[in-house]
Amino acid sequence: MNLLIDGLTKTYDNGVKALNGVSLTIEPGLFGLLGPNGAGKSSLMRTIATLQLPDQGRIVMQDVNGQDIDVLTQPDELRKILGYLPQDFGVYPRIDAVTLLDHLAVLKGIHNGKERKEVVETLLQRVNLWEARKKNLSGYSGGMRQRFGIAQALLGNPKLIIVDEPTAGLDPAERNRFLNLLAGLGQEAIVILSTHIVEDVQELCAQMAIINKGTVLLSGHPLDAVQMV
Ligand code: ADP
Ligand code: ADP
Repeated sequence: MNLLIDGLTKTYDNGVKALNGVSLTIEPGLFGLLGPNGAGKSSLMRTIATLQLPDQGRIVMQDVNGQDIDVLTQPDELRKILGYLPQDFGVYPRIDAVTLLDHLAVLKGIHNGKERKEVVETLLQRVNLWEARKKNLSGYSGGMRQRFGIAQALLGNPKLIIVDEPTAGLDPAERNRFLNLLAGLGQEAIVILSTHIVEDVQELCAQMAIINKGTVLLSGHPLDAVQMV
């Protein structure tokens, strides 16, 4: 399984060229997409997540259970295997984690009540929110909210997980905890993490790319990449 991104360009209606020929090959594991504000990270993430179309280019998720998914022409196929945590993920404040995740599981098509109960429990355990499951999400810290965001993104066992700038505003302990959670998910899926924080990609990402002004400046293993700078 690989995610192949080839020659993506995108100019918005206001004339901003957000993507300027982005090509990348991403393997299973945690991939760090590093770049300053305005570099084009969210544009790239939204394009991969089938939320907007590029002007040019190709995105193929190769060898998913023996099949290739052409992301731009088969968005529904991609969505079946996608987990997405957008940058501006909002949670409903007056609801607890179990109730909300249960509702989201229904929307994901998990209609069997017993199965749903198991899925919800497993996910909340996995992101370490089981003890806080009955608490209103409004009382969650930033880190807890982001971990809840991961739990909802994991509904349906995605093979491609996209997490857009999740660590902004987290304290160092929560950041580490969150990155370790993502690295664990990389055992069985492609996990793409976008960030403007260099430290986020240094330790746990198996692969990385640096993007600026819609162009990939370099890509590779974090240690190799650091030597190239
Ligand atoms: P387009 O329609 O240009 O292909 P989108 O559908 O992705 O691109 O964008 C929809 C609209 O969202 C834009 O036309 C713009 O008005 C607005 N928008 C969202 N984010 C921004 C931003 N960062 N800067 C300017 N406009 C924005
Ligand atoms: P990053 O996530 O790295 O901060 P973005 O992809 O959000 O970068 O933005 C790249 C550039 O495109 C910025 O100049 C931003 O203002 C612009 N932009 C982003 N989304 C839109 C949009 N929907 N419409 C117009 N311009 C946008």
